[in-house]
Amino acid sequence: MKAAHLKPPATERLIFWSVAFILLSQMGWWISLQIRESRNLQNARIATMRAGRAEAWQMDSAQILRIVFQRDTGTTSRPGAVEARVPQFPPLPVRKAAIESRFPYVAVVPDPVEPDDPILLDQSGYLTLRVEILGAMERERTLALWRAAGEAAVMVLAVLLGMSYIYRKLNSEMELMLRQRNFIASVTHELKTPIASLRVWIETLFARELGPERKARIQMLMDGDLLRLTQLVGNLLDVARADAGSLDLQFERTELAPWLREVADGMDHRLGTGSLGLDLQLGIDIYAGIDRRALGQVIENLLSNAHKYAPEPRSTLVTLDSDGEKAIITVTDRGNGISPRELPRIFQRFYRVGDEMTRQVPGTGLGLFLCWEIVTLHHGEIKVSSPGRGFGSTFTIRIPLSPR
Ligand code: ADP
Repeated sequence: MKAAHLKPPATERLIFWSVAFILLSQMGWWISLQIRESRNLQNARIATMRAGRAEAWQMDSAQILRIVFQRDTGTTSRPGAVEARVPQFPPLPVRKAAIESRFPYVAVVPDPVEPDDPILLDQSGYLTLRVEILGAMERERTLALWRAAGEAAVMVLAVLLGMSYIYRKLNSEMELMLRQRNFIASVTHELKTPIASLRVWIETLFARELGPERKARIQMLMDGDLLRLTQLVGNLLDVARADAGSLDLQFERTELAPWLREVADGMDHRLGTGSLGLDLQLGIDIYAGIDRRALGQVIENLLSNAHKYAPEPRSTLVTLDSDGEKAIITVTDRGNGISPRELPRIFQRFYRVGDEMTRQVPGTGLGLFLCWEIVTLHHGEIKVSSPGRGFGSTFTIRIPLSPR
């Protein structure tokens, strides 16, 4: 199956972005509603305060009028006549204090601040709404709007993050499911092909008289098929053991150079002597505690890949070095290489780079996963680098050195 088929369907991305768009427009609508409502509320509060200002004017005017129309009954010459006298109003600071104590948001000022500020009846000043109170109300409103917008943004962000988390989880689950399906098809194919080929060779050997050269050639091909089967079954068993946490390793202090030479030469021989174009550059006196069989399987998997994913004539470099703390093994081929996009994924279980070229190459996508598991159990790390498709790749293993 091509990697492209493993991509999440475009519909899911469309749904995600549609929901994001709806949420964002809902948030925009909600914020504009908040702005409108808060403005209405503010206008209502100002209207109430204006009514209070009118009441303050009435209260002060009533006091003035009472003094103006006060009847002086004791000193009138004619009964029923109103005595005209110069009225004695209470001083302005006293009236101002009375107004401001009852209506704290109203101020008595010498000049009008707003065009509709009423003038006091004796024209000694104007009543206006306090500027600092209006300013404070405006600030409070702006703050409330920012708070509402912030809360809405956090909510939308939380929903989107949650959705994208679920979306990614679903995608990876789906991808794993598809890879698993692909894996079963590959394993079936991987088992059938060498078995079918072995059957043909056995029939040929028994049915015909063959010369020694032909026999040797058939033996080499049968060895190849058996190697493929052994590797596959070994990988499957080890993956099952790794899953069960029972990949039991026996660590032995080992000088790496001779062990690595034996593994690499053995693999080169099994793949067809010289077919890897092996170049071994192995530093001596480098010791580490390793499980020879398991780590050998890692090297074999890497060399098998260097063989599978490189056209002839191959050139494979295996090096061994140390940085004082770790032993460093590299396997470099000059084959197909790996694109930067695929690099982080090739150690995943069942993952295979899926263009038609690789599709024709046998494999299950388990080899590198197993390599990663085994190297991790050695308290080491395995990494891959590649300059890109067509430029080969380098696998680097680092495992702790063992003291002398
Ligand atoms: P398999 O080889 O069975 O497919 P692996 O786990 O060994 O599985 O490798 C995973 C994928 O990584 C391969 O399908 C291949 O696309 C890519 N790969 C591994 N080694 C190399 C290499 N040396 N050169 C290019 N691609 C590689």
